[in-house]
Amino acid sequence: MSFQTDTIHAGVPSSGHAYGAVMTPIFQTSTFVFEDIGKTKGYDYTRSGNPTRAALEECLRVLEGGSSAVAVTTGMAAIATVLHLFKAGDEIICTDDCYGGTARLFKTLEAQFGLAVRFVNLQQPETLSAALTPHTKAVWIETPSNPLLNLIDIEAVCTLAASHGLISIVDNTFLSPYNQRPFELGADIIVHSTTKYLNGHSDVVGGAIVSNRADLDERLKFLTNSLGTCAQPFDCWLVLRGIKTLAVRMREHEKNAQAVAEFLASHPLVKKVFYPGLASHPQHDLAKRQQRGFGGMVSFELSGDAEDINTFLRSTRLFALAESLGGVESLAEHPASMSHASMDAAHRLSVGITDQVIRLSVGIEDGGDLLADLESAFEQVDARKRTEHKARRPVAASTL
Ligand SMILES: *Cc1c(COP(=O)(O)O)cnc(C)c1O
Repeated sequence: MSFQTDTIHAGVPSSGHAYGAVMTPIFQTSTFVFEDIGKTKGYDYTRSGNPTRAALEECLRVLEGGSSAVAVTTGMAAIATVLHLFKAGDEIICTDDCYGGTARLFKTLEAQFGLAVRFVNLQQPETLSAALTPHTKAVWIETPSNPLLNLIDIEAVCTLAASHGLISIVDNTFLSPYNQRPFELGADIIVHSTTKYLNGHSDVVGGAIVSNRADLDERLKFLTNSLGTCAQPFDCWLVLRGIKTLAVRMREHEKNAQAVAEFLASHPLVKKVFYPGLASHPQHDLAKRQQRGFGGMVSFELSGDAEDINTFLRSTRLFALAESLGGVESLAEHPASMSHASMDAAHRLSVGITDQVIRLSVGIEDGGDLLADLESAFEQVDARKRTEHKARRPVAASTL
């Protein structure tokens, strides 16, 4: 089946559900009746398994093309569960501009449990070899990165990792399996924050782990059950429903994001635009090669001071000032003070996240309305700059 057909049918039994229900029912129950001692109808307790969750897991497994999947409570729960595959003394190489929460968890586990992490710029895949030690067990990739949309060549990194016997883990949240299929490029494990594009409606937090290695499938299921990180039935139902429109949504996100990126690139108040769909993006060719599309996230540097940034973010009507991404509605945020505030300023600047960077999650509203909203916010910034300029002049004159 094509991907788009799978988004609608994967996980739904072809025979339909009880009573002929077309959609997966919500099995909102903690426990299941045994038919006899030692005999169940397939489920005994919801932490260990639940039919609504199983439907979502099958859907995610099919969409990523893996051998198994588990649905968990949040993206961070997915990451925490995967990290339990490792033990004290093991070392993980992680891309240096990964999600802030991922870096924070790595640092915590390193300080408290002795799981070592090395943050490395993996844009040049060869740097992986230089960072290897006899204790290295895995490589952690996130591409495109947040918020600067830098890419990592997944196939090159996974090939190198495999030659050293490492487990390759890819956080595929930013593009979703519609736009990027890491297993086809050699990855072993994919993690998701389903909070973002997979659910797509900003009404649930969720996560997922998909494996493509038979030797890891059972361990990941065991860990999810042991740690209790599994997702709740109602949340699973919402994500399942969201996924049915994933392909349609992703095409609209991308169409609008491309238009927004081109608009920004031509705007005099914009210093720099970060979007892999622009020919000017330094890794545009890699994006075309390893992604099916360029996604819905666009970042840019506004030329101006802190007050100009505030003016811009206060002035948009459709782009709401909020963290998170991947929902049908457009959002804008300021990484330095919001999503990346937990990263210290020196680390932020070293990877290029200046105080002027604004990140947009471009929604699926009418594209013309989105451009008009941005234009009117720029006009407010421009108006402020002009009144500032006027207000300053008499002071300058009096000091002469
Ligand atoms: C949001 C996000 C996470 C964390 O997911 P939660 O659902 O918020 O726990 C992890 N990785 C990436 C790339 C994200 O954007």
